[in-house]
This record gives sequence, C-alpha cells and structure tokens, in this order.
Amino acid sequence: MSVIGILLCGGNSQRMGFNKLTTPLGGSTALARSAALLSHSGCDRLVIAVTPDTRPAAEALDTPVPVTLCDGGSTRGQSVLNALRAAQGKPGDIAVIHDAARCFQTAEAVRAAIAGARETGSGVASLPMADSVFDTSTQTPLDRSKLVRTQTPQAFRFEDILSAYERAGDQAATDDAALYARFIGPVTFTPGSTTGYKLTTREDWAFAQASCFRPRTGTGFDTHVLGEGRKLILGGVEIPFEKGLVAHSDGDVLLHALMDALLGAASLGDIGHLFPDKDPQYENISSRVLLREVACRLREQRLTVAHVDVTVIAERPKLAPYFPQAIRNIAEDLGIGEDQVSLKATTTEGMNDEGRGLCISAQAVANLV
Ligand code: MG
Repeated sequence: MSVIGILLCGGNSQRMGFNKLTTPLGGSTALARSAALLSHSGCDRLVIAVTPDTRPAAEALDTPVPVTLCDGGSTRGQSVLNALRAAQGKPGDIAVIHDAARCFQTAEAVRAAIAGARETGSGVASLPMADSVFDTSTQTPLDRSKLVRTQTPQAFRFEDILSAYERAGDQAATDDAALYARFIGPVTFTPGSTTGYKLTTREDWAFAQASCFRPRTGTGFDTHVLGEGRKLILGGVEIPFEKGLVAHSDGDVLLHALMDALLGAASLGDIGHLFPDKDPQYENISSRVLLREVACRLREQRLTVAHVDVTVIAERPKLAPYFPQAIRNIAEDLGIGEDQVSLKATTTEGMNDEGRGLCISAQAVANLV
C-alpha cells in the first residue's frame, strides 16, 4: 500500500499579482515547502498538478521521494482529477490531497490525516470554529460546536476519492471532503493547525514573510587608488578635488561597498561577479546605474531594503558637505526613504594608505527584510 501525495499548484495567483508558489519566501518557496512537507510526513511519492508558469520550478524540486508532474485543470476539482489519474494508484493506496499554498501546514496535521484515512477511509485536516458564526440570510446564529473549518491535507482511500471525483463530473465542490461526503460516506475530521492557512491575499503574504522572517545582513568593502586626471565621484556626487579614483567604472567606492553589502544580504554574490570589470559595457559607467540594477535584483527576490550604513575612509577632501546629495541619490536609486540611508566619513589620522592620500576606501552594512 502506498501513500500518494497530490500537490495542487493550480490557480494563477491573481489576487497576489505574482506567482505565490514559486516566489522566494523566507529562504524557500511555498511550492518547495509543501513538497518537503508531504515527502517528510509519510508520502511515498508525489503527483504535482502544475500550471505552465509553475512547471519549471516543480521540475527543479529536490525531494527525497519520486515526483510525477501533470497538467492542472481549469478548476481545482479538475486538477485533482487529473492528478489522481496521473497517479495510477491501486485500491488500498492512500491519496493525500494538499493545496501547495498551505505551505506552513504542520507534519502532525499530515500524519493525522493519513492515519484517519487508514483507519476510517478519510482524514480531513480541520479546525474548530473559534469565532461566533452567523447565517446572514436567516439572521440566525449557528451552533459553532457542530462546525469545523476544513483545510488540507485531505486524505482518502485512493479508489474512493477517485470514484467520488469521477461521479461528480462537472458538479462543483468546495473541496474533496464535500465530494467524499456526497458520494462515499461520512468524513473523519482530523486536527489541522492554524499555520495551515492558505496564502491567498497580499495580507497573507506579508504575514507569511513576517512569520519566516530571518534578519538578512550584508557587509561590503572596497578601495580604489587615487590618481591624476580622474573625477572624484562618491555616492553619485562629483566632488571637486585634484585627484579621482582609478577604476574601470566611475570608481565610486562608496556605492561599490554599498552594492556589495546589498548583494551580500541577498546572497547574490558580489558586484565583480554581476558586473565584470573586463566587460566593455561597464567602462566608465555611472555606479548609480549599477546600483539601480542591484535594486532590481533585490526586488526580483522580493527583498526590501530596511537600512544601509556606509563609512568612507579618506584623509582628504572633506566629504560631509556632499553627503546630503549622496543620500538623496542612494534613496532614489533604491526606492527607499532618506532616513533609511546613513553616510559617515572618517580619516585614519595620517596612517595607512588612506591616511597618506593614496586611496579612498569604504565599508558598508545593509539590512534587508
Ligand atoms: Mg570598486
């Protein structure tokens, strides 16, 4: 007898505005979390019903159990039926149907649903009603002691749930339990979890991000040699001085350290890797263009800059008068407030190469959420 995890990745995340299953979420994705949940909680193999948009991420999943992919349907019910057929289960097998968007469901809830299906034919993760419930059409309060909220996983004997779906045809049902109750028999409700909520709205997404929030901090350091015949540009501001920083780009050491801190916090490598200094397209390029590109990469990862702090180490010239403009530049390029940017300058009291006026260095710290 095998336990087949049926993972549903249907829906087009319309209410989110982006693919909620494949977008990074706390160091993983909802899809990867749900696949790991099922494969570590008693499922011997997985069948995943995917949309074209989600298929590449599903193909790239690294799970300890075999995975089969099938096309999702235009409704949740159609996706379940497609997946059950693709599963080719045998009588006596258990099908564990789970919405991938409930990626924080607990292993206990999955195991309880499987145990329910083994013992009674069905096990549907559910929660008691904590709130009072009112039928607005009849203006009647309902007896909440008789009510439960169903979640997923919903586990059943394979042949029963397949038969329920085949008999249902085009009849709509809110979930698998509803069809089971209609065509097969009484449903066994097993304990779900409040963390088994479904990622549906942007509010859910924000809550999920906060619940798996891990501070992301990056540091950056850069040095460039001071040379004749170059402009001195720091924080995107041209600063009158007899020398400038020698580099393939504009030599903006302040922005270079800052970009490395941002990339470090996002685990995206460093600027040398992103913008190779052998590449002619970056010759004398404004580092602000590169900073905006880094900001783009962060947005792709759904990361937000909380705060950045940069210290520039230079004996001369005096930099403080130019920092208000540099702060405005950085805030604009990163799409954050000026109060989220801190710039400082220090000398090394004549010591080291900075102190002797041979170079200017910068170090940065960035915090992302
Ligand atoms: Mg540099």
